[in-house]
Amino acid sequence: QCVAVCPTGALVEKSYIDQVWDVIEDPTKHVVVQTAPAVRVALGEEFGYEPGTISTGKLVSALKVLGFDKVFDTNFSADLTIMEEASEFKERLENGGYMPMLTSCCPGWVKFLEHQFPDLLEMPSSAKSPQQMFGAIAKTYYAQKAGIDPKDIVVVSVMPCLAKKYEANREEMRDSGYKDVDYVITTRELADMIRESGINFQNLPEGEYDNPLGESTGAADIFGRTGGVAEAALRTAYEWITGEELKDVDFEALRGYEGVRIAEVDIKGQKIRIGVAHGLGNVRKLLEDIREGKVEVHLIEVMACPGGCVGGGGQPYHHGDFNIIKKRMEAINKIDKSKPIRKSHENPSIKKLYDEFLEKPLSEKSHKLLHTRYFEREWL
Ligand code: SF4
Repeated sequence: QCVAVCPTGALVEKSYIDQVWDVIEDPTKHVVVQTAPAVRVALGEEFGYEPGTISTGKLVSALKVLGFDKVFDTNFSADLTIMEEASEFKERLENGGYMPMLTSCCPGWVKFLEHQFPDLLEMPSSAKSPQQMFGAIAKTYYAQKAGIDPKDIVVVSVMPCLAKKYEANREEMRDSGYKDVDYVITTRELADMIRESGINFQNLPEGEYDNPLGESTGAADIFGRTGGVAEAALRTAYEWITGEELKDVDFEALRGYEGVRIAEVDIKGQKIRIGVAHGLGNVRKLLEDIREGKVEVHLIEVMACPGGCVGGGGQPYHHGDFNIIKKRMEAINKIDKSKPIRKSHENPSIKKLYDEFLEKPLSEKSHKLLHTRYFEREWL
């Protein structure tokens, strides 16, 4: 099992806590923060809560007390990622595009692919990860709406992940005209900042995310666990492909803990085969099988960390105890179930973003801001 180290094995944890304090204290900067889906089900462990405790409200309150100007949610841009990724999947499926399509929101896995499987670079979706989509939208759409010069906006991410620090620094992640995401801190580093400030976490009230980049659906929550991105994409793709309402959004066949799972879903008579892999050893095996034509699937979700982001290298240490990861996964499912809207394309703030700014998924503007490219890379 992965014990709080970066799964790519090549990334060194660099702390940006000092830089984040500096920008918070700089009155010329408008500092917005986004929180990844997996952070809210693990942060509490740093303050004495049981694994699997949901602490979304206290997380938001802590960030407000720390002095961020706006507390937004990566879940908002996870819904946006589904809009783009499900559109791309539908297009590839209907027009004989490159198959299988691999999800692209895990930078640990993307980096692994670029180093180890450069012949498969056409496979991942070109959609950026939710973290990067958030940054690009914050420095364009949000900047315009709020009347703030994007050069004065600083985007900070709280992530369960070390690879997200590397991703934010990739040269091509500047499509807004600025660095999309300025600083990434991990769940553990946020806990350090909270302790450093003398905040009593347990006494914090239940805060609420700010808008317009704070609204999300249950589909976004499940990005935090293995199988969740594929399930979220299917909730939307099913309705777009069939033109019919999806009544039961729980795709149980995609859930579970095995390192590689393959499920078949019937979409109006068309059998769609979906693979889910987590942990890089499992991912390598699956990719080798695909390369040799041993496995035929349409869509594959890949996560570098065992259990997905809930088990990320920036989360509170789980010391190889997979039960802790399971409890976090169950908490993620609980949040999803509690949401009144559970399909990304029904998120009212996302609909508004397309109406007011992006026009439609895969539009010219969407392509410019929300999509990326992959490169063959040498080990350093
Ligand atoms: Fe980061 Fe999540 Fe990928 Fe792990 S699975 S490397 S936490 S994005």
